[in-house]
Amino acid sequence: MELHAEEIKARLKASVEAAGAIAFGVAKAGETDPALDGQFARWLDSGGHASMQWLERHRTLRTDPANVLPGVKSVVSIAFPYFRRERRPASLPRISMYACGADYHDVIRKKLKPLCREFEALTGARTRVCVDSAPIPERYWALKAGIGRRGDNGTVIIDGYGSFFFLCELLTDLPLPPDEPSTLECSHCGRCRKSCPGNAIRPDGTLACRRCLSFLTIERNPDEPLPDESRIALESEEGRATLFGCDICQLVCPHNAAILRSEADTTPAPVTETLERVLCLNPASMTDDDWETTTRGTALRRALKLLKANRP
Ligand code: SF4
Ligand code: SF4
Repeated sequence: MELHAEEIKARLKASVEAAGAIAFGVAKAGETDPALDGQFARWLDSGGHASMQWLERHRTLRTDPANVLPGVKSVVSIAFPYFRRERRPASLPRISMYACGADYHDVIRKKLKPLCREFEALTGARTRVCVDSAPIPERYWALKAGIGRRGDNGTVIIDGYGSFFFLCELLTDLPLPPDEPSTLECSHCGRCRKSCPGNAIRPDGTLACRRCLSFLTIERNPDEPLPDESRIALESEEGRATLFGCDICQLVCPHNAAILRSEADTTPAPVTETLERVLCLNPASMTDDDWETTTRGTALRRALKLLKANRP
């Protein structure tokens, strides 16, 4: 029996949702919008990406998902939630909510790989799963697939849920019926910009990464000298209280008010105890082996050198 494309899409959506996704949308693959490419190029040229040189290297690759999966016809954008209520005492340094669970790269891959195998067996199509691992402008594709609205803090916001989720993409060379792209925007209340401790959110909605605590505590090259603007952000009260990542511009966003009020997921993360043990120690005193053992399976694993540089 030959399945209709709508039926195939419905089956894929049901499988993805059964795996825990909160949003699923399909966009027709193709070159990205030249206006957005131009905005991205201007952001790079202004140094907004700080030391993240791979963004520079991937500048042209990002403009077409066919560079990731030749022959791609559809980009399926998927969101998996990570909202978790803060349970650690306020006296402990902050770790971004997303990093308090098991490493999301592994978790999402494990969820999506079997689905892709089933999808390939059913349709004969090829697939590729991208979890923050390929030159794909994921927020662009999420909006194009209609799963949310654009936030001035650089997030995608899903109505009724908010912005605490991971985005990933399933590319396939099977043409699937596309969803209506979203042109919606957040309510532009300005709270994210006003609350940002490093003044990192520019008026045009782009981010000055050198001032952003998430960049400074996760992505910065620890071997590079720290410019004054980064030092100011890291030495602010919030900067000193931040160990890994920053959620402030999401916590103040009115689109997240409902989930912050809700009782959603108050179960302790499987690695919370481990993280708390790390936090009670001085990261600067830890050996690479100690760190490796203590943070196994978490997104913190690659950050020891940076933690030592940020918290000497
Ligand atoms: S993550 Fe923190 S430092 Fe970065 S833009 Fe948001 S509020 Fe500012
Ligand atoms: S805090 Fe306000 S301006 Fe910032 S993303 Fe949310 S709604 Fe938009």
